Amino acid sequence: MTAATVATEAIDVTVSEVGTRDGLQNIDTILPTDAKKAWIAAEAAAGVPEIEVGSFVPPRLLPQLADTAELVRFAKTLPGLNVAVLVPNLRGAQAALAEGAHHISMPLSVSETHSLANVRKSHAQMFDEIAAVVAAVAAQPAAARPTLEVSLSTAFGCTLEGPVPEDRVVAMAERAIALGADEVGLSDTTGYGNPSQVRRLTTRIRAAVGRERLTGVHLHNTRGQGLANVMAALEVGITTIDSSLGGLGGCPFAPGASGNIVTEDLVFLLEAMGLRTGIDIDRLLAVRGDVQAALPDETLYGFVAEAGLPKGFAYARAEAS
Ligand code: ZN
Repeated sequence: MTAATVATEAIDVTVSEVGTRDGLQNIDTILPTDAKKAWIAAEAAAGVPEIEVGSFVPPRLLPQLADTAELVRFAKTLPGLNVAVLVPNLRGAQAALAEGAHHISMPLSVSETHSLANVRKSHAQMFDEIAAVVAAVAAQPAAARPTLEVSLSTAFGCTLEGPVPEDRVVAMAERAIALGADEVGLSDTTGYGNPSQVRRLTTRIRAAVGRERLTGVHLHNTRGQGLANVMAALEVGITTIDSSLGGLGGCPFAPGASGNIVTEDLVFLLEAMGLRTGIDIDRLLAVRGDVQAALPDETLYGFVAEAGLPKGFAYARAEAS
C-alpha cells in the first residue's frame, strides 16, 4: 500500500494485521479499548507495518468496533505505523477522513446477494457510494489524502451464490478504478479460493487495471488453503498480505467462514523464505499471549505458536535477498 507514512525500513512483503477489525467484529466479546490499544501498540512495536484498527460502522450493528475513532487517533501516534480502517459507505469514509486514517478500505462484494446481506446495498448503489467516497477523499488537501482501496469480497466464490464469474470480478475491478479508487484488493471472504484461481484472477485484474492497482490480497484459511494461496499471490508479485493474529475472525455473513490467515504463521513463512517483513516473531507470539489472556473464551489458531521457531531459525536479511 502506498501511503507515504509507511515505515522507511526496507521490507519485501507488507503484512497487514486485520485482527483488530476482522477478528474482533466476528466474536461476541467486546474487547475493552485499552486492551485494543495495547494490542495495536505491541504489534506495531513488534514491527507490523500496517494495522486495520477498526471499521466505521454504526455501533448498533457492530458494538465490538464502536471505539474505532479513538483507535485511529491512538494508532496515529505510533511511529511508522500505517493506520488502516474499513468503511462500508460515505458516512464511514467521512469519519475516517475526520480522524486522518492513512488507508481506507471499502468492501465491494462481487456477489450481489452477499452485498445485500452484508451492507444492504446493490452493486449500483455500491458504485454510487464508491464515487461519493472518491469525491470526499479528493476534496482533502493532497497531504492528508488517504489511499482508497476497493476490496472485492467474495471474489473467489460466495456461500450464497456459489461460483462467482471471474469476468465479473475483473469488470468490477475495472469499474472501481475507473471511478477513481487508488487500488483494488482481492478478498477470499469464504475461503473458497485455490492457488490456481489466485494466480489467474490477480494476473487478469492486473492486466486490466495495471500492476500497481492491485497490490494486496485478503485470504482465508477456511479450507486449509490460506498459505498455499499466499504463495500463489507472491509468485505474481502481490506485496501486501492481510492476516489476523491467532487467525481470529472470518465473516459473519459467510456461514462457516472462520479463520483468517494466521499472522504468526504468515510471518514465519515469509521470513523463512528470505522475504523481509520487519516483524519479530517472538514479540508477535508475546502479543498473541496477551490477546489470548484478554479473550480467554476465544480460540486462537496457528502452528508456529504451538511448535515454536525451528532451532537456529534465521530471519531474512537485506544481504540474503
Ligand atoms: Zn477476513
